[in-house]
Amino acid sequence: MSDAKPQDILRLLPQIDEVLRIPLVEQIAKTIPRDVAVGYVRDVIGNLRTEILDGTVKQVEIDQIVSMVCLHILTLQKPSLRRVINTSGVIIHTNLGRSVLAPEAVEAVIQVATGYSTLEYDMQNMARGSRHDHCEKLLCTLTKAEAAIAVNNNAAAVMMVLSEFAADHEAIVSRGELVEIGGSFRVPDIMEQSHATMVEVGTTNKTHLSDYEKALSNNTAMLLKVHPSNYRMIGFTESVEIRDLRQLAEHENERRSQQGIQSEVLVYEDQGSGALIKLDCFGEYHEPTVNESLEQGCDLVSFSGDKLLGGPQAGIIVGKKCYIDRLKKNPLARALRLDKMTLAALTATLRLYLVENEALEKIPTLRMLSAPASAIEKDAGDLLDRLKSSIDEKDACFTIVNEIARAGGGALPMCDIESYAVCVEFKRGSAQKCEEYLVMERETPIIARIKQEKMLFDVRTIQGPPEIDEIVRALNDYFTLS
Ligand SMILES: *Cc1c(COP(=O)(O)O)cnc(C)c1O
Repeated sequence: MSDAKPQDILRLLPQIDEVLRIPLVEQIAKTIPRDVAVGYVRDVIGNLRTEILDGTVKQVEIDQIVSMVCLHILTLQKPSLRRVINTSGVIIHTNLGRSVLAPEAVEAVIQVATGYSTLEYDMQNMARGSRHDHCEKLLCTLTKAEAAIAVNNNAAAVMMVLSEFAADHEAIVSRGELVEIGGSFRVPDIMEQSHATMVEVGTTNKTHLSDYEKALSNNTAMLLKVHPSNYRMIGFTESVEIRDLRQLAEHENERRSQQGIQSEVLVYEDQGSGALIKLDCFGEYHEPTVNESLEQGCDLVSFSGDKLLGGPQAGIIVGKKCYIDRLKKNPLARALRLDKMTLAALTATLRLYLVENEALEKIPTLRMLSAPASAIEKDAGDLLDRLKSSIDEKDACFTIVNEIARAGGGALPMCDIESYAVCVEFKRGSAQKCEEYLVMERETPIIARIKQEKMLFDVRTIQGPPEIDEIVRALNDYFTLS
């Protein structure tokens, strides 16, 4: 058989219909459209044909064809966007969906998703309303801004602000702030897209107020400040405070009005992480709050909804009413608007901030960031006990180790958050094999870290007892199966 000619092997390939009549295939194929199933069988046979012709496949096995076809069908049916258990210790993990929503936010989503809603209906006037109204008052209350608008994400917010105020004009930005933020957000690219001309000033490590001053022209529309996010320069560095940019803008605007020039220079900060309250746990690495940036003199500040705020994906812009009003009329506001589920989650999250302790307790991102190390140590102890009592010590041994958790999401990159992890040392199987099992074979994948052949479950990012149960179950299953 192994020295048969490709032409002879090809003759053994089944017809498409034949494969579809095999009982297992027939049964699974019933769950998807007929033409899609036919397409899968055709692809599988077609690939085999190619492999037979180039000599990599030397025989035809029907079982293999069946399993490949079934795999295609099952992959289509199984959601690829699934819940996972995050034991990486990275709290705002962009690849894992950033912030976990508070139960109040989830409930609000369910309410508006399972019925009609007041999305654009004004109950007071029994008339058409604006979707922007649902979160504006809350945002203004919490940040002390005059006005606010929320869009799809912060990248969209930056895009909209630049297009509205700096298109065909110049925006001055420090070279020290021209950073790339995870997931391909680059200020120069957004500038180009919004037809703003970027005027870079200063050097990578130092930018002075005089650099901005020299770059000013009648065509300047904006002094842009970008929070460097997950990037920090230490040592011989200097950047210009918002306060000073404010003064410079005031001067310039006065000069223009004296000369009868209509346009104004505005100060805008892309703050990124967007903290609404100060957290003690940030310690010396204080993350500026939205309110602080406004108080220092920003006309507009934008930030994400799913970073330090702990809500759904959104981009929030707060600031002077005259500017926000212009943004509301920009066609991009329509293109980038929030849907009702996001608005429900966002407003429910914002409402929790009305009582600061409530926010710290109920918003998972804030709770994980601020939980005292002693509470995390206790949780690690619980997980340790459960694992020790259910897994044979001949299979693995378990210990608790000190770990450093991270805020993630570009927030507080230098801030070490004291944490604890359960460390698994494998006596049977290996950390790598177990990782593959936990990620690829489980219904709910578990994302752990591997360090020197050991597996670490950082408990700071685990969401309560049901996830602990699942981790114990998964490890048990791993050792049972291996
Ligand atoms: C995260 C971040 C962005 C992008 O925000 P998204 O909500 O992810 O679109 C833009 N600017 C800064 C400074 C950021 O930190």
